[in-house]
Amino acid sequence: MSFSEEIEKLDWENVRSTIAGVTARDVERSLQTERRTFRDVLSLLSPAAESYLESMAQIAHNITVRRFGRIIQMYAPIYVSSECTNSCVYCGFNRHNAIERATLTLDEAAREGEILHREGFRHVLLVSGESPRHASVDYLCAVAERLRPLFASISIEVYPLDTDEYRALIASGVDGLTIYQETYHKGRYAEVHPAGRKRNYKWRLDTTDRGGEAGFRRLNIGALLGLSDWRIEGAYMAFHAAYLTRRFWKSQISVSFPRLRPAAGGYEPEFPVSDPQMVQLMCALRLFLPDAGLVLSTRESRELRDNLVPLGVTQMSAGSKTAPGGYASKPEAEGQFEVSDKRSPGEVAHMIASRGYEPVWKDWDAAFLTGGEAGSALDVRRASVER
Ligand code: SF4
Repeated sequence: MSFSEEIEKLDWENVRSTIAGVTARDVERSLQTERRTFRDVLSLLSPAAESYLESMAQIAHNITVRRFGRIIQMYAPIYVSSECTNSCVYCGFNRHNAIERATLTLDEAAREGEILHREGFRHVLLVSGESPRHASVDYLCAVAERLRPLFASISIEVYPLDTDEYRALIASGVDGLTIYQETYHKGRYAEVHPAGRKRNYKWRLDTTDRGGEAGFRRLNIGALLGLSDWRIEGAYMAFHAAYLTRRFWKSQISVSFPRLRPAAGGYEPEFPVSDPQMVQLMCALRLFLPDAGLVLSTRESRELRDNLVPLGVTQMSAGSKTAPGGYASKPEAEGQFEVSDKRSPGEVAHMIASRGYEPVWKDWDAAFLTGGEAGSALDVRRASVER
Protein backbone atom coordinates (compact mmCIF):
# COMPACT_ATOMS: atom_id res chain seq x y z
CA MET A 1 0.00 0.00 0.00
CA SER A 2 1.42 3.42 -0.95
CA PHE A 3 1.51 6.25 1.54
CA SER A 4 -1.14 8.16 -0.42
CA GLU A 5 -3.45 5.19 0.27
CA GLU A 6 -2.29 4.78 3.85
CA ILE A 7 -3.00 8.45 4.64
CA GLU A 8 -6.66 7.88 3.81
CA LYS A 9 -6.91 6.20 7.23
CA LEU A 10 -6.54 9.63 8.81
CA ASP A 11 -9.02 12.46 8.77
CA TRP A 12 -7.66 15.94 9.49
CA GLU A 13 -10.70 17.06 11.48
CA ASN A 14 -10.80 13.85 13.52
CA VAL A 15 -7.15 14.21 14.39
CA ARG A 16 -7.77 17.83 15.37
CA SER A 17 -10.71 17.00 17.64
CA THR A 18 -8.90 14.04 19.22
CA ILE A 19 -5.93 16.26 20.05
CA ALA A 20 -8.23 18.99 21.41
CA GLY A 21 -10.01 16.47 23.66
CA VAL A 22 -6.87 15.06 25.32
CA THR A 23 -6.92 15.27 29.14
CA ALA A 24 -4.08 15.47 31.67
CA ARG A 25 -4.76 11.82 32.53
CA ASP A 26 -4.30 10.81 28.88
CA VAL A 27 -0.96 12.62 28.78
CA GLU A 28 0.21 10.94 32.00
CA ARG A 29 -0.73 7.55 30.63
CA SER A 30 1.18 8.25 27.39
CA LEU A 31 4.22 9.36 29.34
CA GLN A 32 4.26 6.24 31.49
CA THR A 33 3.85 3.61 28.80
CA GLU A 34 6.91 1.98 27.21
CA ARG A 35 5.52 1.22 23.74
CA ARG A 36 3.68 4.25 22.48
CA THR A 37 0.91 4.07 19.90
CA PHE A 38 -0.30 6.69 17.46
CA ARG A 39 -2.95 7.62 20.04
CA ASP A 40 -0.11 8.46 22.44
CA VAL A 41 1.57 10.82 20.01
CA LEU A 42 -1.74 12.67 19.67
CA SER A 43 -1.81 13.05 23.47
CA LEU A 44 1.75 14.34 23.54
CA LEU A 45 1.05 16.92 20.81
CA SER A 46 -1.99 18.29 22.65
CA PRO A 47 -2.43 21.55 24.55
CA ALA A 48 -2.93 19.38 27.66
CA ALA A 49 0.67 18.11 27.29
CA GLU A 50 2.12 21.63 27.51
CA SER A 51 2.28 21.38 31.32
CA TYR A 52 4.33 18.17 31.02
CA LEU A 53 7.10 19.56 28.85
CA GLU A 54 9.78 18.96 31.49
CA SER A 55 8.88 15.27 31.80
CA MET A 56 8.67 14.89 28.02
CA ALA A 57 12.12 16.48 27.63
CA GLN A 58 13.62 14.15 30.24
CA ILE A 59 12.18 11.03 28.61
CA ALA A 60 13.21 12.26 25.13
CA HIS A 61 16.75 12.74 26.41
CA ASN A 62 16.89 9.26 27.98
CA ILE A 63 15.55 7.53 24.87
CA THR A 64 17.98 9.36 22.58
CA VAL A 65 21.04 8.61 24.70
CA ARG A 66 20.00 4.96 24.92
CA ARG A 67 19.46 4.59 21.16
CA PHE A 68 22.06 6.92 19.67
CA GLY A 69 24.59 7.72 22.40
CA ARG A 70 25.77 11.29 22.88
CA ILE A 71 26.51 12.08 19.28
CA ILE A 72 25.31 14.72 16.83
CA GLN A 73 26.01 14.11 13.17
CA MET A 74 27.04 17.25 11.26
CA TYR A 75 26.09 18.04 7.67
CA ALA A 76 25.89 21.01 5.32
CA PRO A 77 23.75 21.80 2.28
CA ILE A 78 25.18 22.57 -1.16
CA TYR A 79 22.69 24.57 -3.22
CA VAL A 80 23.34 23.69 -6.85
CA SER A 81 20.52 25.62 -8.53
CA SER A 82 18.09 28.39 -7.62
CA GLU A 83 16.15 28.03 -10.88
CA CYS A 84 12.57 27.01 -10.27
CA THR A 85 9.38 26.65 -12.28
CA ASN A 86 7.13 26.58 -9.22
CA SER A 87 5.50 29.37 -7.28
CA CYS A 88 5.37 28.16 -3.70
CA VAL A 89 4.14 31.26 -1.89
CA TYR A 90 6.58 30.88 1.02
CA CYS A 91 9.82 30.37 -0.91
CA GLY A 92 12.53 32.82 -1.96
CA PHE A 93 13.12 30.79 -5.15
CA ASN A 94 9.45 31.19 -6.24
CA ARG A 95 9.62 31.82 -10.01
CA HIS A 96 7.94 35.22 -9.58
CA ASN A 97 10.63 36.60 -7.27
CA ALA A 98 13.11 38.83 -9.06
CA ILE A 99 16.29 37.34 -7.63
CA GLU A 100 19.51 36.57 -9.44
CA ARG A 101 19.33 32.89 -10.46
CA ALA A 102 22.22 30.52 -10.85
CA THR A 103 23.02 26.89 -11.54
CA LEU A 104 26.50 25.74 -10.60
CA THR A 105 28.82 24.25 -13.17
CA LEU A 106 30.43 20.97 -12.14
CA ASP A 107 33.63 22.84 -11.30
CA GLU A 108 31.73 25.33 -9.17
CA ALA A 109 29.93 22.51 -7.35
CA ALA A 110 33.28 20.83 -6.75
CA ARG A 111 34.66 24.07 -5.28
CA GLU A 112 31.72 24.26 -2.86
CA GLY A 113 32.39 20.66 -1.88
CA GLU A 114 36.11 21.25 -1.38
CA ILE A 115 35.43 24.13 1.01
CA LEU A 116 33.02 22.02 3.07
CA HIS A 117 35.43 19.10 3.02
CA ARG A 118 38.21 21.35 4.35
CA GLU A 119 35.89 22.50 7.13
CA GLY A 120 35.50 18.87 8.16
CA PHE A 121 32.14 17.85 6.65
CA ARG A 122 31.79 14.32 5.28
CA HIS A 123 28.00 14.47 4.83
CA VAL A 124 26.38 16.89 2.39
CA LEU A 125 22.91 17.58 1.09
CA LEU A 126 22.54 18.68 -2.55
CA VAL A 127 19.63 21.11 -2.92
CA SER A 128 18.01 22.51 -6.05
CA GLY A 129 14.79 24.18 -7.12
CA GLU A 130 12.46 22.42 -9.53
CA SER A 131 13.80 23.11 -12.99
CA PRO A 132 14.66 19.90 -14.83
CA ARG A 133 15.95 22.04 -17.70
CA HIS A 134 18.67 23.54 -15.47
CA ALA A 135 19.16 20.76 -12.92
CA SER A 136 18.35 17.58 -14.83
CA VAL A 137 18.78 14.10 -13.38
CA ASP A 138 21.92 13.68 -15.53
CA TYR A 139 23.28 16.93 -14.12
CA LEU A 140 22.54 15.87 -10.52
CA CYS A 141 24.21 12.50 -11.16
CA ALA A 142 27.27 14.26 -12.58
CA VAL A 143 27.49 16.55 -9.52
CA ALA A 144 27.21 13.53 -7.19
CA GLU A 145 29.92 11.65 -9.08
CA ARG A 146 32.19 14.66 -8.88
CA LEU A 147 31.64 15.08 -5.13
CA ARG A 148 31.65 11.41 -4.19
CA PRO A 149 35.42 11.13 -3.51
CA LEU A 150 35.12 13.92 -0.94
CA PHE A 151 32.13 12.70 1.06
CA ALA A 152 31.03 9.57 2.90
CA SER A 153 27.38 10.42 2.38
CA ILE A 154 25.57 12.55 -0.20
CA SER A 155 21.85 13.22 0.15
CA ILE A 156 19.58 15.10 -2.21
CA GLU A 157 16.75 17.53 -1.61
CA VAL A 158 15.44 18.16 -5.11
CA TYR A 159 12.13 17.93 -6.96
CA PRO A 160 10.28 14.55 -6.81
CA LEU A 161 11.58 11.98 -9.29
CA ASP A 162 10.48 8.55 -10.39
CA THR A 163 11.97 5.31 -9.09
CA ASP A 164 14.36 4.76 -12.01
CA GLU A 165 15.67 8.29 -11.74
CA TYR A 166 16.35 7.66 -8.05
CA ARG A 167 18.15 4.43 -8.97
CA ALA A 168 20.39 6.44 -11.31
CA LEU A 169 21.22 8.86 -8.51
CA ILE A 170 22.01 6.01 -6.12
CA ALA A 171 24.33 4.52 -8.76
CA SER A 172 26.08 7.90 -8.89
CA GLY A 173 26.79 7.85 -5.16
CA VAL A 174 23.73 9.46 -3.56
CA ASP A 175 22.55 7.53 -0.51
CA GLY A 176 19.94 9.81 1.10
CA LEU A 177 16.67 11.40 0.04
CA THR A 178 15.10 14.40 1.74
CA ILE A 179 11.66 15.53 0.68
CA TYR A 180 9.30 17.70 2.67
CA GLN A 181 5.58 17.41 2.13
CA GLU A 182 5.39 21.10 3.22
CA THR A 183 1.82 20.53 4.49
CA TYR A 184 -0.14 17.29 4.75
CA HIS A 185 -3.41 19.25 4.56
CA LYS A 186 -4.60 18.78 0.99
CA GLY A 187 -6.58 22.02 0.72
CA ARG A 188 -3.81 24.07 2.27
CA TYR A 189 -1.29 22.36 -0.01
CA ALA A 190 -3.26 23.59 -3.04
CA GLU A 191 -3.39 27.14 -1.64
CA VAL A 192 0.34 27.51 -1.07
CA HIS A 193 1.31 25.84 -4.35
CA PRO A 194 -0.81 27.84 -6.79
CA ALA A 195 1.05 26.83 -9.98
CA GLY A 196 3.71 24.54 -11.36
CA ARG A 197 4.39 20.80 -11.15
CA LYS A 198 4.55 20.90 -7.39
CA ARG A 199 0.76 21.22 -7.28
CA ASN A 200 0.55 17.44 -7.52
CA TYR A 201 -0.06 16.56 -3.84
CA LYS A 202 -0.26 12.79 -4.36
CA TRP A 203 2.93 12.57 -6.46
CA ARG A 204 4.79 14.35 -3.70
CA LEU A 205 3.18 12.27 -0.97
CA ASP A 206 4.49 9.05 -2.57
CA THR A 207 7.99 10.39 -3.22
CA THR A 208 9.58 8.63 -0.25
CA ASP A 209 7.89 5.38 -1.34
CA ARG A 210 9.60 5.66 -4.72
CA GLY A 211 12.88 6.55 -2.99
CA GLY A 212 12.55 3.59 -0.62
CA GLU A 213 11.81 1.25 -3.52
CA ALA A 214 14.88 2.56 -5.34
CA GLY A 215 16.98 1.70 -2.28
CA PHE A 216 17.99 4.94 -0.56
CA ARG A 217 19.69 4.17 2.74
CA ARG A 218 18.36 7.36 4.34
CA LEU A 219 14.84 8.75 3.95
CA ASN A 220 14.09 12.11 5.51
CA ILE A 221 10.66 13.73 5.69
CA GLY A 222 9.13 16.83 7.24
CA ALA A 223 6.45 19.50 7.13
CA LEU A 224 7.22 23.18 6.70
CA LEU A 225 6.15 24.55 10.06
CA GLY A 226 4.02 27.67 9.82
CA LEU A 227 1.85 26.63 6.88
CA SER A 228 -0.80 24.93 8.99
CA ASP A 229 -1.62 23.80 12.54
CA TRP A 230 1.65 22.31 13.82
CA ARG A 231 -0.06 19.82 16.16
CA ILE A 232 -1.87 18.12 13.30
CA GLU A 233 1.10 18.34 10.95
CA GLY A 234 3.11 16.71 13.76
CA ALA A 235 0.60 13.85 13.93
CA TYR A 236 0.81 13.33 10.16
CA MET A 237 4.62 13.43 10.21
CA ALA A 238 4.61 10.81 12.96
CA PHE A 239 2.17 8.68 10.97
CA HIS A 240 4.28 9.01 7.81
CA ALA A 241 7.54 8.19 9.59
CA ALA A 242 5.96 5.14 11.27
CA TYR A 243 4.71 3.92 7.87
CA LEU A 244 8.17 4.34 6.32
CA THR A 245 9.82 2.57 9.25
CA ARG A 246 7.55 -0.44 8.74
CA ARG A 247 7.84 -0.52 4.98
CA PHE A 248 11.50 0.40 4.49
CA TRP A 249 13.03 -1.09 7.60
CA LYS A 250 16.49 -1.27 6.02
CA SER A 251 16.62 2.53 5.61
CA GLN A 252 17.24 5.05 8.32
CA ILE A 253 14.12 7.20 8.65
CA SER A 254 14.50 10.73 9.92
CA VAL A 255 12.27 13.72 10.44
CA SER A 256 13.18 17.39 9.98
CA PHE A 257 11.46 20.38 11.54
CA PRO A 258 11.94 23.25 9.09
CA ARG A 259 10.22 26.34 10.48
CA LEU A 260 9.37 29.12 8.05
CA ARG A 261 12.01 31.84 7.83
CA PRO A 262 12.02 35.27 6.16
CA ALA A 263 12.65 34.98 2.41
CA ALA A 264 12.28 36.98 -0.81
CA GLY A 265 8.57 37.48 -1.42
CA GLY A 266 8.00 38.42 2.24
CA TYR A 267 5.59 35.57 3.08
CA GLU A 268 4.44 35.65 6.71
CA PRO A 269 3.52 32.34 8.36
CA GLU A 270 -0.20 32.10 9.02
CA PHE A 271 0.31 29.49 11.73
CA PRO A 272 3.42 30.62 13.62
CA VAL A 273 5.11 28.04 15.84
CA SER A 274 6.73 29.27 19.08
CA ASP A 275 9.98 27.91 20.54
CA PRO A 276 8.20 25.96 23.34
CA GLN A 277 5.90 24.47 20.70
CA MET A 278 8.94 23.38 18.65
CA VAL A 279 10.31 21.68 21.76
CA GLN A 280 6.99 19.93 22.40
CA LEU A 281 6.79 18.75 18.80
CA MET A 282 10.31 17.33 18.76
CA CYS A 283 9.91 15.63 22.13
CA ALA A 284 6.53 14.14 21.14
CA LEU A 285 8.05 12.65 17.98
CA ARG A 286 11.09 11.32 19.83
CA LEU A 287 8.82 9.57 22.37
CA PHE A 288 6.82 7.97 19.56
CA LEU A 289 9.75 7.24 17.20
CA PRO A 290 12.68 6.14 19.37
CA ASP A 291 14.81 5.04 16.39
CA ALA A 292 14.19 7.97 14.04
CA GLY A 293 16.83 10.55 13.28
CA LEU A 294 15.68 14.06 14.23
CA VAL A 295 17.24 16.83 12.16
CA LEU A 296 17.64 20.49 13.09
CA SER A 297 18.85 23.07 10.59
CA THR A 298 20.35 26.55 10.81
CA ARG A 299 16.85 27.98 10.30
CA GLU A 300 16.69 27.92 14.10
CA SER A 301 18.37 30.35 16.48
CA ARG A 302 21.62 29.42 18.19
CA GLU A 303 19.92 29.50 21.60
CA LEU A 304 17.18 27.07 20.59
CA ARG A 305 19.66 24.76 18.84
CA ASP A 306 21.92 24.74 21.88
CA ASN A 307 19.01 23.84 24.14
CA LEU A 308 17.68 21.14 21.82
CA VAL A 309 20.97 19.23 21.60
CA PRO A 310 20.14 16.94 24.57
CA LEU A 311 16.45 16.53 23.76
CA GLY A 312 16.49 14.17 20.82
CA VAL A 313 18.34 15.81 17.93
CA THR A 314 20.67 13.47 16.05
CA GLN A 315 21.71 15.62 13.07
CA MET A 316 22.51 19.30 12.71
CA SER A 317 23.57 21.44 9.80
CA ALA A 318 26.13 24.17 10.41
CA GLY A 319 27.57 27.16 8.58
CA SER A 320 24.87 26.79 5.91
CA LYS A 321 24.61 28.99 2.82
CA THR A 322 21.31 28.75 0.96
CA ALA A 323 22.34 30.15 -2.45
CA PRO A 324 24.27 28.39 -5.22
CA GLY A 325 27.94 29.31 -4.87
CA GLY A 326 27.34 30.56 -1.32
CA TYR A 327 30.55 29.03 0.09
CA ALA A 328 33.07 29.68 -2.66
CA SER A 329 32.05 32.38 -5.09
CA LYS A 330 28.86 34.20 -4.07
CA PRO A 331 28.78 34.53 -0.29
CA GLU A 332 26.37 37.48 -0.52
CA ALA A 333 23.91 35.95 -3.00
CA GLU A 334 20.26 35.86 -1.96
CA GLY A 335 19.41 32.45 -0.59
CA GLN A 336 16.24 30.38 -0.44
CA PHE A 337 15.60 31.73 3.06
CA GLU A 338 17.47 33.60 5.77
CA VAL A 339 19.65 31.47 8.01
CA SER A 340 19.28 32.17 11.74
CA ASP A 341 22.24 30.39 13.35
CA LYS A 342 25.16 31.98 11.51
CA ARG A 343 27.94 30.36 13.54
CA SER A 344 30.79 28.64 11.72
CA PRO A 345 30.86 24.81 11.63
CA GLY A 346 33.75 24.88 14.10
CA GLU A 347 31.75 27.03 16.54
CA VAL A 348 28.76 24.68 16.31
CA ALA A 349 31.01 21.64 16.85
CA HIS A 350 32.52 23.38 19.88
CA MET A 351 29.05 24.11 21.29
CA ILE A 352 28.06 20.44 20.85
CA ALA A 353 31.22 19.28 22.62
CA SER A 354 30.72 21.80 25.44
CA ARG A 355 27.34 20.16 26.14
CA GLY A 356 28.91 16.75 26.61
CA TYR A 357 28.11 15.48 23.11
CA GLU A 358 30.40 14.43 20.29
CA PRO A 359 30.09 16.20 16.94
CA VAL A 360 30.48 13.48 14.31
CA TRP A 361 31.48 14.53 10.79
CA LYS A 362 31.32 11.02 9.34
CA ASP A 363 29.09 8.22 10.59
CA TRP A 364 28.98 5.94 7.62
CA ASP A 365 31.26 4.25 5.14
CA ALA A 366 29.87 2.66 1.99
CA ALA A 367 32.52 -0.06 2.41
CA PHE A 368 30.18 -1.75 4.90
CA LEU A 369 27.74 -2.54 2.16
CA THR A 370 30.14 -3.09 -0.69
CA GLY A 371 32.57 -5.26 1.30
CA GLY A 372 35.40 -2.98 0.24
CA GLU A 373 38.05 -1.42 2.36
CA ALA A 374 37.03 -1.43 6.02
CA GLY A 375 36.11 1.82 7.73
CA SER A 376 37.53 3.02 11.01
CA ALA A 377 36.46 1.56 14.34
CA LEU A 378 34.48 4.75 14.88
CA ASP A 379 32.58 4.21 11.64
CA VAL A 380 31.81 0.64 12.70
CA ARG A 381 30.38 1.88 15.98
CA ARG A 382 28.31 4.57 14.29
CA ALA A 383 26.96 2.17 11.70
CA SER A 384 25.85 -0.34 14.30
CA VAL A 385 24.27 2.37 16.44
CA GLU A 386 22.33 3.54 13.42
CA ARG A 387 20.73 0.23 12.55
S1 SF4 B 1 10.02 25.40 -2.38
FE1 SF4 B 1 11.18 24.34 -3.98
S2 SF4 B 1 9.72 24.06 -5.62
FE2 SF4 B 1 8.86 25.65 -4.31
S3 SF4 B 1 9.53 27.61 -5.21
FE3 SF4 B 1 11.02 26.98 -3.63
S4 SF4 B 1 12.61 25.89 -4.73
FE4 SF4 B 1 10.81 25.98 -6.06
